[in-house]
Amino acid sequence: MARRKKIYEGKAKILYEGPEPGTIVQYFKDDATAFNAQKKDVIEGKGVLNNRLSEFFMLGLNQIGVPTHFIRRLNMREQLVRSCEIIPLEVIVRNFAAGSLSKRLGIEEGTQLPRPIVEYCYKDDALGDPMVSEEHIAAFGWASQQDMDDVLSLALRVNDFMSGVMLAVGIKLVDFKIEIGRVYEGDFQRLVVADEISPDSCRLWDIETGRHLDKDVFRRDLGSLTDAYSEVARRLGVLPQAAPTKPTLIN
Ligand code: C5P
Repeated sequence: MARRKKIYEGKAKILYEGPEPGTIVQYFKDDATAFNAQKKDVIEGKGVLNNRLSEFFMLGLNQIGVPTHFIRRLNMREQLVRSCEIIPLEVIVRNFAAGSLSKRLGIEEGTQLPRPIVEYCYKDDALGDPMVSEEHIAAFGWASQQDMDDVLSLALRVNDFMSGVMLAVGIKLVDFKIEIGRVYEGDFQRLVVADEISPDSCRLWDIETGRHLDKDVFRRDLGSLTDAYSEVARRLGVLPQAAPTKPTLIN
């Protein structure tokens, strides 16, 4: 088989040209980065878990009518997705204070917010993904007002879905980040949830114990990241058939 053409390599994923026009193969790496890649490691099995978990969430969203880029999972580390034009924003939804919001506003981590708060950051690694307002988004033409109405509605629907799915398995969805893409169908443009939804991009706390089951385990050195992600996958019933354990060497 001819080698696939690499389109882009990011911190946690590689994108390859897909088999049909308008498709992309998304490969999940084991690389973990935090603080804008100042902290780095390779966590064996992380890519496999995120591929399965992102598949699970995207499929669920598709089933309730929230459009996503997801087409199907191809193997342990790859999924086929629709090619889309990513809006250069990180869309963050928060239900409880944590992370940068707690730091910025001095609100204790874990405090329930009066309502979900949606924030936008401009996707630019060199600038450290600065937070921006809808004024910046409109003025610099990153998205139209209609796009932003749709982005907000998608973000809140994803929040309701993810909060419910997590609550059912004893996990609190503290916050998460999504990316939104444009797909073109003839003369029409449609917005879809793109990139990934996984414990890399969410804060997930065990409701009983408060245990962190997300990338903060890596950011804050709280233990094994694969144990945390496996726990989320186990509770959701999406552990891969071949768990990412090390092969046993005989002789
Ligand atoms: O760091 P902060 O508190 O702003 O992060 C909010 C949420 O967005 C967290 O769930 C974090 O994992 C996610 N996030 C992300 N990628 C970024 C920034 C934040 O997935 N570049």
